[in-house]
Amino acid sequence: MKKMLLSLAFKLGLAIFMIASVLLSGLEIFYAHRVNLEIDRRLDSLAQIPGRLMNEQAIPYSTARDAAALSRLVEERVVLAVLGQPDGTIYYSTDPALEGSNVADVGGSLGLPFCSQVQPEAVVSRVGEGAGSHLISTTPLFSDGRWLGNLCLKLETANAALQKKQSALGFLIGFLASIALVTLLSALFVRQMTVPRLNNILGCIQAVEQGDLSFRVKRTVSQDELGALGRGVNRMVERLENQRHEQERLKAELQDAKEAAERASRTKSEFLANMSHEIRTPMNGVLGMTQLIQDTPLSPEQRDYVGTISSSANNLLKIINNILDLSRIEMGKFDLNMTTVDMAKVVDELHTFFTPSAKSKGLELRVDCPGDLPFVRSDEGRLRQVLINLMANAVKFTQKGHVEIGVRCLDRSGHECTFAFRVSDTGIGIPQEAQEMIFQEFIQADGSYTREFGGTGLGLAISKKIVEQLGGRLTVRSTPGVGSEFNFNITLNMDVPQAEGDPVEVPPVNEQLGLYVLVVEDNKLNQRVLVKILEKMGCRSDVAENGREALAMLKLARPPEQRPAYDIVLMDIQMPVLDGLKATAMIRAQEGSETHIPIIAITAHAMKGDREKFLEQGMDGYLSKPIRREDVRAMLKHHT
Ligand code: ADP
Repeated sequence: MKKMLLSLAFKLGLAIFMIASVLLSGLEIFYAHRVNLEIDRRLDSLAQIPGRLMNEQAIPYSTARDAAALSRLVEERVVLAVLGQPDGTIYYSTDPALEGSNVADVGGSLGLPFCSQVQPEAVVSRVGEGAGSHLISTTPLFSDGRWLGNLCLKLETANAALQKKQSALGFLIGFLASIALVTLLSALFVRQMTVPRLNNILGCIQAVEQGDLSFRVKRTVSQDELGALGRGVNRMVERLENQRHEQERLKAELQDAKEAAERASRTKSEFLANMSHEIRTPMNGVLGMTQLIQDTPLSPEQRDYVGTISSSANNLLKIINNILDLSRIEMGKFDLNMTTVDMAKVVDELHTFFTPSAKSKGLELRVDCPGDLPFVRSDEGRLRQVLINLMANAVKFTQKGHVEIGVRCLDRSGHECTFAFRVSDTGIGIPQEAQEMIFQEFIQADGSYTREFGGTGLGLAISKKIVEQLGGRLTVRSTPGVGSEFNFNITLNMDVPQAEGDPVEVPPVNEQLGLYVLVVEDNKLNQRVLVKILEKMGCRSDVAENGREALAMLKLARPPEQRPAYDIVLMDIQMPVLDGLKATAMIRAQEGSETHIPIIAITAHAMKGDREKFLEQGMDGYLSKPIRREDVRAMLKHHT
């Protein structure tokens, strides 16, 4: 209802109604007045009829005594009739008592003012208002041109008044009907002219609001305002549609550019991962051979040189590892290896690890860590990597004062504990403007060629990402010349400590293992390194160039007692002809259920899910290149 009252059609109808009312009421008043005048004029002429008929001798003068006859003639009730003679004597009257009296004496009191006067023509006048009004008619009577007197009539005007009333009522009804008709027809007409077109425009605007730009206003050729409005709306929608097409084109271009950038980034990460993998393989040879040389008798000078080779190779390996880590994180192939972590022990080991370097720079190494920290589930290796990065930086960028590592349990609730990690120093500090940037890859606070400190600018970028993977956020607060403080909080699940005894326990260095090992490796240098390492441990070994050769050498088709007595297989993953994974699957399929030869994967880089893949294919463990003697020894001991 409210909607209808607010509609344009209703308002237009109301306006038409008001205009029609004003115009038609004016017309009604005008015509009602004309009709009233006509009724009065007719009554005036009717009032003169008896006098005229007497003058024409059509009725006798004595009719002036007969009120009923007179009333019929004038169509109104005659209240009083008087026929007065030239001398003023009343000759006839409807009131017999007046006959013989003088009109001049009684005329005024009877309400007949002109009755005694000579009248050349009939005179009609009105006395009083409304229901009590009377009409006085004075008609001169002539005979042969001689004035005989006047016939004076006093009439009621009830009939005329009734006629007036009836005509007024008729007009009122007509007026109301006309208003209703005019309003209805005009409203219908206006509605027909405007509402469909307005609705069409409204529909178009609503469609645009809902995102449909295909809609257009119809009937826009007419030159009226609605036509102009429709054309304007259509122009606006067309412009919007063009803009949308432009936006969609830009969006598609942006999407293409984004995908191209992502492809480029992926290619870069893959390239870095491949490169670091390719570099790690020869590095394996360099480090392995260096270790072997260090075990031979050397002069002090030679030992010094070999030591330099070893530390340079290790530094290079660290950089490669960092690059590999970064590309793994970027490719989403970064896997957390969750184990039970004794945080206090980790901090203690870090303290031991950094004591020599801090001491050599005259720095105090402080630890702020309560001894009763709970055991938790986390990736110990990654956590250690972050803390080592932060502490190595702290030691590197501090010339005097102290470096401090702090680990606290901020909050224990249920099975969880929130740890706050802090590494602070009194070093050179980091300018405010560089504090955001240093977390980006390859960025250093001092990027100049003359900078004092080495490094790749990767440590913090990796640390930040590792902390994020662990569920925290790495932040820094620093004042140049005063020192820096790196912080992060992570919430970890608490865990019960593991039983004593690491499954991969480190055996004494010179223990002779006396095993028979099959080395499956295509790279000649790595073959030599592995064979030499095994030799030092008192192990015999054969070498297979690829998976197919390994299968042939294991002679699995024969009964177990006729096969070569290998204790364990060290299997490279990437090899020509038949790779390590396929070879392992085939070995497991062929060896039968009663025998199981341990197979250890040797891989240059372990990606997310690789460990599961190795174990799924039937391998028993894996060693990452570059191979360290201690790791090989521990692995052999554990699996044989
Ligand atoms: P790198 O140390 O290999 O250059 P990082 O990513 O670990 O790479 O550090 C990036 C930069 O952040 C450093 O080059 C150094 O400018 C600044 N920085 C990091 N830690 C500290 C610190 N404790 N004190 C002063 N500057 C630091």
